[in-house]
Amino acid sequence: MSRTTPPRPLDVIAVFPQLASLARTATRLHPRPGSPTQHDSSVGGPLLWPADEPWPHCDGPHEWDQVNAALSPQDVRVQRRIRAAAVASRPHGISEADRYTPEERAIDERINASCPWPTGPIAMLPVAQLYLRDVPSLRQPGRSEDDLLQVLWCPFDHPAHPRTALFWRSAATVVDVLDTPPEPPAVQFPGYLPQPCLLEPEQVTEYPHVMELSEELQQQLGDWDRWQTAGETVDNSYAPAPQEFYMGKLSIAPGWKVGGWTRWGLTDPAPRLCLACGTEAEPLLTIATTEWDPSTDSWAPEEDQANPTALFPGHPPAQATMIDLARGYDLQLHVCPASPDHPHIELVQ
Ligand SMILES: [Zn+2]
Ligand SMILES: [Zn+2]
Repeated sequence: MSRTTPPRPLDVIAVFPQLASLARTATRLHPRPGSPTQHDSSVGGPLLWPADEPWPHCDGPHEWDQVNAALSPQDVRVQRRIRAAAVASRPHGISEADRYTPEERAIDERINASCPWPTGPIAMLPVAQLYLRDVPSLRQPGRSEDDLLQVLWCPFDHPAHPRTALFWRSAATVVDVLDTPPEPPAVQFPGYLPQPCLLEPEQVTEYPHVMELSEELQQQLGDWDRWQTAGETVDNSYAPAPQEFYMGKLSIAPGWKVGGWTRWGLTDPAPRLCLACGTEAEPLLTIATTEWDPSTDSWAPEEDQANPTALFPGHPPAQATMIDLARGYDLQLHVCPASPDHPHIELVQ
């Protein structure tokens, strides 16, 4: 399988030549449910982790929010299997109560009542593993020998989303692989447990968020007459605010990706300065709740538009990883271009 972003509706450079110097390559990851091994690039899959290297743990704080029960990863998997089976095999339109058997409802109640809030350090969860061979743009300055990026997180809010940890390594140096890594005793929310997915990386070209452009370019993008030189590709409904056409269809790909530009939306663009040296940090990995939504559905891969029900039953096709972050937003990890040893930055947008 591969995933193909449909061609953009117009060549934005032909209409706005000044954008050409701002083009960046992003690698869309297109995670889809599968059974990755330690030797695959994956989301939520096993990591190529050296047997003699301590597994990362998070020391907290992990304060009980008094509202939500924690769930064990195993129980989240059981709930997902029950839900998937129900959606796949039982008719739509029946009530939620009739969709599940009494045994399944009893399991669900047992799960929701049982998991105690954890104490002590929490084993971190694999979130993503990326091999350079699959994501050629994956390079960290100063680490030319490394061809593998591993991202883990603590599945508890710190304070409003999981805390991430990044590890770069050379795959060839990992001889003895850790077979059974520790799992956290619990996750704060089911959406903090990534469903194992294989990746189908694809490179696309991105342009900055409209508010990151110069004033002159912003004015050009707001000029409806200029858009009309592109012919009839741009619907008249965009006439009052043609920038929205740029934002939705031409600038920034939604979903999981490496590199590219930042999808601002929760806040206006702001500097992301390295905490160690003050250099502007650059987007590395975007961890997304959904791969597209109604405002960005032109980016849905052709294969998914042709067969929108082929993904995990019971979830929208755009949410194959089952991650649900920060009320539907994305977590974008930035790294400092000056030094691989400087801490990364987590940005929710
Ligand atoms: Zn933690
Ligand atoms: Zn720095």
